[in-house]
Amino acid sequence: MDTLYRAKPYIPEVTHQWILRKFGTILETGGLIQGAHVKEFEDDACQMFDVKNAVATTSCGTGLETVLIASGIKGKRFIVPTQTFAASVNCIIRTGNTPLIVDVDSETQCLSLDIIKENMTDDMGGVVLVHMSGLITPEMEEIEKYCKDNDLFLLTDDAHSYGAQLYNPYKDERRCAGTFGDAGVFSFYPSKIITTGEGGMITTNDDEIADRVSKLRNHGAEISEEQRHHGAKPYMLPDFNMLGFNYRMTDLQGALGVVQIKKLDSFISERNEWANYYIRELNKIDWLMLPQISSDYKPGWQSFVVFVDEVKAPFSRNEIMEKLQEVGISTRPGTHAVHMLNYYKELLRCDENDFPGAKAANDFSMSIPLHNRMIKEDYEYVVSKIKLL
Ligand SMILES: *Cc1c(COP(=O)(O)O)cnc(C)c1O
Repeated sequence: MDTLYRAKPYIPEVTHQWILRKFGTILETGGLIQGAHVKEFEDDACQMFDVKNAVATTSCGTGLETVLIASGIKGKRFIVPTQTFAASVNCIIRTGNTPLIVDVDSETQCLSLDIIKENMTDDMGGVVLVHMSGLITPEMEEIEKYCKDNDLFLLTDDAHSYGAQLYNPYKDERRCAGTFGDAGVFSFYPSKIITTGEGGMITTNDDEIADRVSKLRNHGAEISEEQRHHGAKPYMLPDFNMLGFNYRMTDLQGALGVVQIKKLDSFISERNEWANYYIRELNKIDWLMLPQISSDYKPGWQSFVVFVDEVKAPFSRNEIMEKLQEVGISTRPGTHAVHMLNYYKELLRCDENDFPGAKAANDFSMSIPLHNRMIKEDYEYVVSKIKLL
């Protein structure tokens, strides 16, 4: 049997024939970069998430950085959870701001309104918030309101939360990840819910931010090649009013994105179905702690992360991961805690034990296989092998 990976892309539409045809068309039209497919991918994202603007970029990391440059905020502090991927912190440092890393709520693995309030200072510029594993941060609308009232820029790192939704029963409204705060950024890295190889997407309801990020990603040019080539004034060259860079998405990547985004609803529904299966089955194991979700969410289930209670468990978390690997089930620690990585430990002068919630997640969490390529027998196999431990 092949190893069951924790995450794997699933794009059955993309056959050899499809690639030849698409690549052929794209080469023929000459719109290799940010062409018609990237535009369609962006339009689909706007519609899918009910957000005014979507701007494709080369990755989530570059997207986060672009948004903070567009915000114009410099020399300020930004609250960011330590339990996240390095990119959520790097965007703060790279734009001349200082990260104030904070712990996460040990139950939800996310920030909370209390954590943000406790860490507020006068020189705070904003918050970089992460919806861990595709579970939307609880109190999200309260956090959004608090940031607005206190003039804090709220950037959400949505690398894990493609398709995740919050339901507000009072307003009978759904809101998607990527629409909270000032802007959000998705990742299309191969381990995420949909992939374009490399790739990212900035979403925002703020037209000014959208305008700035779309120029920044294209060297700062006031008008794009697309506009220039199809415009009525062929002699016109763009002006440059800002210091940009090249974070453009290629059109073949855009085409890959379009195929998958149209299936996002079914991807997420299927992930929810199997996550609920895991919850039902694994609930019976007293040494496993399962993700806590409230009925207000439809999680995206970027990953299914459990916690090993090493006091009750038959083995340590690492031994369990090794034993599962031996029977062809690949697992990983949920995510790391940035304050335990050398560069940040030295830069931010912190100690491993400063953030107990995130350290516990680093030491005891385990992400088990869940993705759209898996079938019923695969899920049953994972459950049976965990039960046998
Ligand atoms: C994967 C990930 C990123 C980085 O995404 P890229 O597209 O590789 O830049 C950023 N933040 C989080 C939380 C991630 O998991």
